[in-house]
Amino acid sequence: MAIIVNGNTLARVIREESAHEFRALTSNSGVPPGAAIVQITEEASATVYTRHLQRAFTEAGVDVRLHVCPSTTAPDEAAALVRQLSGDSAIHAIQIQTPLPAQVSLESLLEELDPAKDVDGIHPLNAGRLAQGRPSIVPATPLGGLEILLHHRVEIAGARAVVVGRSVEVGRPMASLLLQHDATVTMCHSRTRALDALTREADILAVAAGRPGLVTGAMIRPGAAVIDFGTNVVDGKTVGDVQPDAADRAGLLTPVPGGTGPVTTAMLLRNTLLLFRRAVENRS
Ligand code: NAP
Repeated sequence: MAIIVNGNTLARVIREESAHEFRALTSNSGVPPGAAIVQITEEASATVYTRHLQRAFTEAGVDVRLHVCPSTTAPDEAAALVRQLSGDSAIHAIQIQTPLPAQVSLESLLEELDPAKDVDGIHPLNAGRLAQGRPSIVPATPLGGLEILLHHRVEIAGARAVVVGRSVEVGRPMASLLLQHDATVTMCHSRTRALDALTREADILAVAAGRPGLVTGAMIRPGAAVIDFGTNVVDGKTVGDVQPDAADRAGLLTPVPGGTGPVTTAMLLRNTLLLFRRAVENRS
């Protein structure tokens, strides 16, 4: 039976540590940390996530500016907002919530985003640094997945790791992080043939496909560490990409909800701290 990861407990520790560090940095520098959240939709699920993040920032002592814009916002207006926040010296971290409405491309907003304020590591400069194995701001979701593996002392070096999903925010950076930690990494996606044969080889299996129950218990190697990033609402319930019977075969499993989700928010705080520290050091 798998160890079921308690993401809430791990997240609380990271959030408290971050709050402590924010206080110390602020009292030494006299500069208060500032973050901005940009949400360009009125969709209920996006609003719920924005509120979670806003609360986490506030609890950690970070001043948050919330910009919720209608989904009809013109591309130029959205770009101007990101440009203005990038130029605002009181803001150290900018989070652009996705999904964006069809008329606003993430690429166009990233053109305006200062990479030094890119709290979720999605600017091409930061993504490129990660891909090259150089120090970088890393997207919070995969960074949280790595944190869970490290916290539970899962051996990554030399392990066979399989990542299902190749998105810019989750799958690709997860694969880069595992490679950086010396795993042998296979990436899978919607065109992958015989997915089950590949997942069964994985000592570490990270799944970010957004397909409820895609991975069954039978697709898991006995004893594997399984990180389920999937967050899907089915019949009003939040479920992962991995079926619950995975717990019978895995050695470690992140549940949904309560696994990777809360750790993502905590890692956004840790990333904010990193950006804030760099900004303070660059002033002196
Ligand atoms: P995404 O951009 O839609 O990417 C999904 C990826 O999965 C794509 O690469 C796609 O392949 C692949 N895929 C789809 N169906 C597949 C299949 N049947 N077999 C193998 N691969 C398949 O999604 P995302 O933004 O990465 O998010 C993935 C999931 O993670 C979602 O449920 C999302 O809600 C969740 N999420 C969770 C957190 C968290 O904090 N836990 C944060 C962000 C996202 P192609 O590239 O070939 O299309």
